[in-house]
Amino acid sequence: MSFELTILGNSSSTPTSRRHPSAQVLKINNDFILIDCGEGTQNQMLRYKVSHNKIRYIFISHMHGDHFLGLPGLLCTMSVQGRIDDLDIYCPEELEFLINLQFSLSDVQLKFKVVYHKLQFDAPKEILATRDYTVTSLPLKHRINCAGFLFSERVYGRKINKQEADPLNLNQAEYENLRNGGDYKGKDGKTIPNAKLTFDPRKSFKYAYITDTLYDEELLPHIERFDLLYHEATFAHDMVDRAKTTFHCTALQAGKIASRAKVGKLIIGHFSARYQNLEELLEEAKDVFPRSDIAEEGKTFKMR
Ligand SMILES: [Zn+2]
Ligand SMILES: [Zn+2]
Repeated sequence: MSFELTILGNSSSTPTSRRHPSAQVLKINNDFILIDCGEGTQNQMLRYKVSHNKIRYIFISHMHGDHFLGLPGLLCTMSVQGRIDDLDIYCPEELEFLINLQFSLSDVQLKFKVVYHKLQFDAPKEILATRDYTVTSLPLKHRINCAGFLFSERVYGRKINKQEADPLNLNQAEYENLRNGGDYKGKDGKTIPNAKLTFDPRKSFKYAYITDTLYDEELLPHIERFDLLYHEATFAHDMVDRAKTTFHCTALQAGKIASRAKVGKLIIGHFSARYQNLEELLEEAKDVFPRSDIAEEGKTFKMR
């Protein structure tokens, strides 16, 4: 299974001449998933050659403009350019109301169906399950209701040890039994334990998108040992008080969460416009978690 994450926007509330508000595209096999859609997202998709017609699902974390203001424009462009496929949007219920109001005032009728799925913010909840992966929403501690999103690959059954199993000339049902963990029972009554004929399943790939939030150690059990963590880092740590009053985090705090959750890799983003040079923030995160990187716009992280 392939996992690729392309960053389209890494700025917090205010854009800069070179940076855009939050948006990223996660590609899992052939599914393109847009996560947040700040202003200018469709321009960024053009710039970095992400076809909007391929987007199958959209996840919007919360109702602050830097996370959704690009959506009305993107939906209109999809329609004008002939999209007919349904689009599923997972978002706060207010967003459906707002988009419908805007489109009714502008007399916009989309040529495709949008299916809205209302997020809940009281507890983690599995909100999507495809054949290949699941998505769980996770409440974050922000000024208004806000959700993170956890993407987990689904791994089916144990792996067959071909060298040991194939000489037994098994039929399909017997292979299936092995994949499900059952022992092999031969016609002669002899039993071969499952562990001799199979290997442990491959570890499932996991990605956590944690945007606007206070420093929150309650997140740790939900993202423990994830392969990839995107965590907001709006400020450097000399502004930790400001981070607290605005319900955001510092780069050092993002590094701390990554370190305590023992994740494989950290990507920091959602930077305040006051930072021209992002190296300062990266160094701070790396001090506590060396496997840190910047959510550089246009960069694709190929994880598998
Ligand atoms: Zn934000
Ligand atoms: Zn926010």
